[in-house]
Amino acid sequence: MSENKGKTFFIDQTRCTACRGCQAACKQWKKLAADETVNTGSYQNPPDLNGHTFKLVRFNEVEVDGKLKWVFFPEQCRHCLEPPCKMMADAFIPGAIIQDEATGAVLYTEKTKDLDYQTIREACPYDIPRKEESTGLLTKCNMCIDRVRAGMLPACVKTCPTFTMHFGDRDEMLAIARARLAEVQKTSPAALLADSDLVRVLYLCEVHPSHYHHHMVADAGGATDRIGPFSRRALLAMRPLRMG
Ligand code: SF4
Ligand code: SF4
Repeated sequence: MSENKGKTFFIDQTRCTACRGCQAACKQWKKLAADETVNTGSYQNPPDLNGHTFKLVRFNEVEVDGKLKWVFFPEQCRHCLEPPCKMMADAFIPGAIIQDEATGAVLYTEKTKDLDYQTIREACPYDIPRKEESTGLLTKCNMCIDRVRAGMLPACVKTCPTFTMHFGDRDEMLAIARARLAEVQKTSPAALLADSDLVRVLYLCEVHPSHYHHHMVADAGGATDRIGPFSRRALLAMRPLRMG
């Protein structure tokens, strides 16, 4: 699929108030199990993504220009244009991870339970895949593909009350994201769209991406150190070793 086709999210983090409506809507629509709230010294809960938490609002209080600032990161699978998790899975069980033709959504199938969890997780430059212990399946956001195919917005986008979350055709989302970026850069010159040429989830970062999370961008100390994601050649080179 051409990188300018299909669907894309635009997530304007300058508008996020960490209400966690998106996180709750994801749980509700996907009928995902809840986790008991544990006090870890942060408002963030649960502490990390897990097999039944596909959307997580991460909280961070950081120092920017000598002032404390809250930054919020509603994290989910980025639906990479060339998904390293799928490339790795194809080396073991073709078809376990597929990419939807119409939208570009990266979809995990029942066959993922026969994949090696750590191998797939480490292939992801954003550290997204998790294993659901109750089913053995590898899990993550699936772009609410059932809703999107029915002409509806993803549940997290539909529920967002602050217009942080947007979803639509990729060219339209890119145009909206770039226009908003130009506006934000008037007062925050360091603002950027994280990895916008690699992924279908465009995060507008008002401050340096590392303030949000160390996996906000692919080259910020994540899986790039481990296997060099986005390198088809590197993955194919691993294939005979792994398959042997
Ligand atoms: S698109 Fe659907 S599955 Fe993905 S984070 Fe949003 S609500 Fe959850
Ligand atoms: S963000 Fe990770 S899990 Fe999602 S498509 Fe990209 S490589 Fe796969």
